[in-house]
Amino acid sequence: MRQPLVAGNWKMNGSKASAEALLAGIKEGVAGLSKTEVLVCPPFPYLGQAVAALAGTRVAVGAQNAAAEASGAYTGEVSAGMIKDLGCAYVILGHSERRQYYGETDEIIAAKYAQALAAGLTPVLCVGETLTERVNGETEAVVFRHLDAVLETAGPEAIARGVIAYEPVWAIGTGMTATPEQAQAVHAFLRGRVAAIDPGVAAGVRILYGGSMKPDNAMELMAQEDIDGGLIGGASLKASDFLAICQAGEANA
Ligand code: PEP
Repeated sequence: MRQPLVAGNWKMNGSKASAEALLAGIKEGVAGLSKTEVLVCPPFPYLGQAVAALAGTRVAVGAQNAAAEASGAYTGEVSAGMIKDLGCAYVILGHSERRQYYGETDEIIAAKYAQALAAGLTPVLCVGETLTERVNGETEAVVFRHLDAVLETAGPEAIARGVIAYEPVWAIGTGMTATPEQAQAVHAFLRGRVAAIDPGVAAGVRILYGGSMKPDNAMELMAQEDIDGGLIGGASLKASDFLAICQAGEANA
């Protein structure tokens, strides 16, 4: 049985004051949860604040990115070791916005993944196709390539130590959600790919769905056999919405 994980990706939003209010709301709301793991990923400057505010709760804290190198002359970068040192447990890697706007390749993402594991963080590896790729029938080839960048180079044990997030690019921040059937089909494909190499790892690895997940569609998505939670962007900025999605995790645990 895979424990549901509901993760909030705040992206580049908020301030010290708004983070404080959001963290307080989440802290209060998660008190009633018993089965779902909860994760918040604020921007770098608010990570320490989040770790302090959520200490002693069931909510883990993660970063949205990490460097591909361990340390050294890489101005502006933040290493996985530093993120771990702050008290974080997770890091999102390979988000489509990183791939699209910052030129992150599969190779770079695989290097970041290795750094995250070496630092003791749990990487959340994002995979997903664009609308053009879906229309062209390339969805499986694209997510296969994104997953295999890590699976092929680091092996199934690296996948076992992380989380996969299927995020169709066309559904991110657009209000267009994949139907539960569309999402389930890709999740099953991803799990099948891992199973071809290591069935035990495939059975245990959590695969989250991300892309306009909201309180009103979370239940149906998470009810799918291979959907083990959500990676939430916009709806994670409002405590009541995020908590309602956590409740959908509880119901499907
Ligand atoms: C995301 O960016 O990871 C995401 C899923 O965003 P949204 O929920 O806003 O579509």
